[in-house]
Amino acid sequence: MSIEPFDAVDVIRAKRDGGAVPEAALRWMVDAYTRGYVSDAQMASFAMAIFQRGMERDEIRVLTDAMIASGERMDFSGLGKRTVDKHSTGGVGDKITLPLAPLVAVFGVAVPQLSGRGLGHTGGTLDKLEAIPGWRAALSNDEMFAQMKGDVGAVICAAGSGLAPADKKLYALRDVTGTVEAIPLIASSIMSKKIAEGTDALVLDVKFGNGAFMQDIERARELARTMVALGTDSGVATTALLTDMNTPLGLAIGNANEVRESVEVLAGGGPADVRELTVALAREMLALAGQPDADVEKALDDGRAMDSWRAMISAQDGDPDAALPVARETHVVRSAVDGVVSRMDALPFGVAAWRLGAGRARAEDPVIHAAGIDLHAKPGDRVTAGQPLFTLSAEDDARFARALQALDGAYEVAQSAPAAGPIVRERITADD
Ligand code: URA
Repeated sequence: MSIEPFDAVDVIRAKRDGGAVPEAALRWMVDAYTRGYVSDAQMASFAMAIFQRGMERDEIRVLTDAMIASGERMDFSGLGKRTVDKHSTGGVGDKITLPLAPLVAVFGVAVPQLSGRGLGHTGGTLDKLEAIPGWRAALSNDEMFAQMKGDVGAVICAAGSGLAPADKKLYALRDVTGTVEAIPLIASSIMSKKIAEGTDALVLDVKFGNGAFMQDIERARELARTMVALGTDSGVATTALLTDMNTPLGLAIGNANEVRESVEVLAGGGPADVRELTVALAREMLALAGQPDADVEKALDDGRAMDSWRAMISAQDGDPDAALPVARETHVVRSAVDGVVSRMDALPFGVAAWRLGAGRARAEDPVIHAAGIDLHAKPGDRVTAGQPLFTLSAEDDARFARALQALDGAYEVAQSAPAAGPIVRERITADD
């Protein structure tokens, strides 16, 4: 039996007491946890110590590096194309990856969009796409490579279990121990996977507001700066946009309905906020790929982005023309008064959609693709008494009561509404 060079209790105590953990001890802790030598209880305690005490930039860099070293690294250098990826820290109604990846691929850039499934109130890109009959999330590395190298260019698929397995284990533990919302842990978790993926460039959509991990813009800015520094130091050209997640994005919250809305955007229409964010992120991605002047709005309006979407869905055995699932039961919520919608809080709408069946409570649960919420009005819209505000959809009407409970106090119709700000509030680069 080999002798372990450190003791987990010493590492936990060092962080608990506010010290910086030396590099070798931190690398060992991650490796020993991945091997199963450090227990879940010890790692949970260490994660809570990090949550309470924070980490210095150098510690976060080492933690990220140790998680990358726990698994494989992908290499797209043989593609003969620039690769650029996007990651969102997660929000309600955030379907942007769906129109964005094929839109960016129109310009000859490869988009390796390794995505996840939803847990809790934020949806998962793979869950949304699986509403399309036949569509396949699991691709081999060879299939992924071929799709990016060929005419399709964009791929959205499940991240294989070989990328940063330490993060996979740690993230599941954080999820059940109240240690998700810590900047060092979120930054190292996201960036270890993105750096291991081997993309040349990365744009981060860092959300702030009641529907995001980071409630206020100052914490979102700190998270963005930390992640941009981690990417840049590892040779991945990285920038971030800070975007508003106080109100659900677009009008659809769920899975199948979010695919429908994404297709509207790809057809040159769709809700203004979804188009605005899609365009802003596409411009940012293409600038990092050396095409700062690419006319992305034209590609949405002239059908090229839609052609790219159809090719991407078909390449993964999905039928872009198939009817999407529709729920058996609906419940319409109407305005009680005349006025202006002044507030719709993202978090409770996300929780309500989850309770309707659009999300899962445990990683192994299925989602119900037809379940969700369709908004008929957004903040700033004038409504009259009796006018529909939103429709809940579910397979079983017994789900409506708990969803409505989550929505109690989540929206308001008043005499006036505060002026809406832009979705994109700030841009963070390595020079900030
Ligand atoms: N997404 C991740 O991959 N990790 C986190 O810690 C939070 C969001």
